[in-house]
Amino acid sequence: MRITRISVYRLELPLKAPYSYSGGRLLVESLDSTFVRMDTDAGLVGWGEGCPWGDAYLPAHARGIRAGIERLAPALIGQDPRALAHINRLMDLRLPGHASAKSPLDMACWDIFGQSANMPLWMLLGGSVADGVHVNSSISTGTPSEMIARIEEARAFGYRTHSAKLGGGDPREDIERIEAIGAARLAGENITYDINRAWMPSVALQVLNSVTDTLSWVEQPCETLEQCAYVAGKVRQPVLLDECLHNFGDHLRAWKLDACAGLKIKPNRLGGLTRCLQARDFAVSIGWKIHVEDTGGSALADTTAIHLASATPRENRMDSWLCHYHLTLDPVSGQGARNVDGVATPPSVPGLGVVPDATMLGDPIQTHD
Ligand code: MG
Repeated sequence: MRITRISVYRLELPLKAPYSYSGGRLLVESLDSTFVRMDTDAGLVGWGEGCPWGDAYLPAHARGIRAGIERLAPALIGQDPRALAHINRLMDLRLPGHASAKSPLDMACWDIFGQSANMPLWMLLGGSVADGVHVNSSISTGTPSEMIARIEEARAFGYRTHSAKLGGGDPREDIERIEAIGAARLAGENITYDINRAWMPSVALQVLNSVTDTLSWVEQPCETLEQCAYVAGKVRQPVLLDECLHNFGDHLRAWKLDACAGLKIKPNRLGGLTRCLQARDFAVSIGWKIHVEDTGGSALADTTAIHLASATPRENRMDSWLCHYHLTLDPVSGQGARNVDGVATPPSVPGLGVVPDATMLGDPIQTHD
């Protein structure tokens, strides 16, 4: 089987409400998403999506994804999309780094691989059943009462795990937020405090060693892996890493430095499902907890992540975030993994199981054949 054509589409995905995080340093109001359609000489068609969470979240941005695909796609024409390791080596030779540009291409190859094998992605990725994945809400930064009100709204949709975004300028404000949210937690609920790298290491120690909530996870407290490792060794809360992990070498460094007890695995940050699978298997082998989700995007990107989360052992698995819940547009309406009373289940049709609405995508902005 050969790849005969790669078409690229752009779609603006406005958020239902502006989203403030990292202590208000960062604000997202709309997402710029890139969709990839991959055609083959066997008649099979694969889809992928690459959508950063704005331009300031990671060293990746939407226009960079499309510029990267312009360099990468010609190298993939004529290749067998099922040869995932080979496809990734070709992309690395053509354009080192630039994981976010590789992710939608790798995703489309996995979609075709699954269809050709007549297997859903969750099975190809190691799952035995389409196990439903618990999903978590994402609570943007505000006053303690605003954040608790957002958690209450999320409860109505079945969410029992909440990712509360912190990181204010004054450490006392974050102490107040943690104490208030921790006190409002219902029995059986989980909270993760996601700092999105906003704290200096000294602030992380001041806040985390002052609060009574030691049950909850703390995510990416500081900018770098080394700073997070320093904090992880001096606080009682388990630490999750996210934005500081860009490649497999970062995962090895995190392990050597005892920097975390868990991590987030995101296709668009690591370069696609092939790289995520490697990171997932390493994390399982050393006993880390794992969130699988993407950096952003429609239910297409969400569903890809849910396939991998579903195929991850329950002992290791943490709840996944669904970005499409924040969006006003749905280019894959009625398809894919959706929140049903706090649980998202991956489709069991062959491949990814999601095909975008062609009328919403419009004409391609790049075509390679
Ligand atoms: Mg995070």
